[in-house]
Amino acid sequence: MVGSSAVLVRGLWKRFGQQVAVGGIDLELPAGKFIGLVGPNGAGKTTTLSMVTGLLRPDQGSVEVVGHDVWRDPVEVKARIGVLPEGLRLFERLSGRELLAYSGRLRGLPGAEVDKRATQLLDVLDLAGAQHKLVVDYSTGMRKKIGLAAALLHNPEVLFLDEPFEGVDPVSAQTIRGVLERYTASGATVVFSSHVMELVESLCDWVAVMAAGRIRATGPLAEVRGEAASLQQAFLELVGAGGRDAGTDLDWLGGGAR
Ligand code: ATP
Repeated sequence: MVGSSAVLVRGLWKRFGQQVAVGGIDLELPAGKFIGLVGPNGAGKTTTLSMVTGLLRPDQGSVEVVGHDVWRDPVEVKARIGVLPEGLRLFERLSGRELLAYSGRLRGLPGAEVDKRATQLLDVLDLAGAQHKLVVDYSTGMRKKIGLAAALLHNPEVLFLDEPFEGVDPVSAQTIRGVLERYTASGATVVFSSHVMELVESLCDWVAVMAAGRIRATGPLAEVRGEAASLQQAFLELVGAGGRDAGTDLDWLGGGAR
């Protein structure tokens, strides 16, 4: 798949009442890349990823993933993608290993293959010791990791991750990162959303910058960063710093006076 598009979005819209969450975006994401979808809170990243992965029906527009229309051909698309959604809902009363066994069988993999892959994923993600613990007792980082294992089990062509590092400690983040780097090195595509620029800059070779429901820039990391010192700087220039001057607005803060 290297060289072709992993995701092709045309004229995608989503409104929630008066609120335009995604305002007619076009986006082409190449296969075989580590892609970051970046933008401030409320930019429309989650809404976009939900529509691209077939979880939320667009008001208008089309989405193709690895050459298949997400809404006309959902079974074909869902077989080829893995998704780690935001606010991941898991079957809390299953153990980590049971959850993987269930996900694998749901994907139509033979039991022995599921066992083999689950053992390897639990091991690599440092969850082997917790594999028989119920998911309800997992920490945030452990939940992200078991969710990632479930999303990878069927070896998808494209993996979509909504804020995969949110609430994850540095050790687990490094583990997740290692697994994702290995996965993309084999030619697969990762698309992940984040508002942490340093993270995107250190992981991604391709970025799409989103703000207020629109794509502001997209392309190879170096191209989007341009002359700016960092992606963060380029991002602030693209979307505008936007913040109010805390120096004058919060003049009561600090200094000991009540
Ligand atoms: P964050 O980084 O904070 O998660 P985001 O870039 O993922 O933000 P979205 O969650 O896609 O942004 O939200 C885009 C806009 O759409 C926001 O203004 C949000 O309030 C609105 N929105 C999203 N989902 C809904 C919904 N189900 N109902 C109403 N408004 C919504």
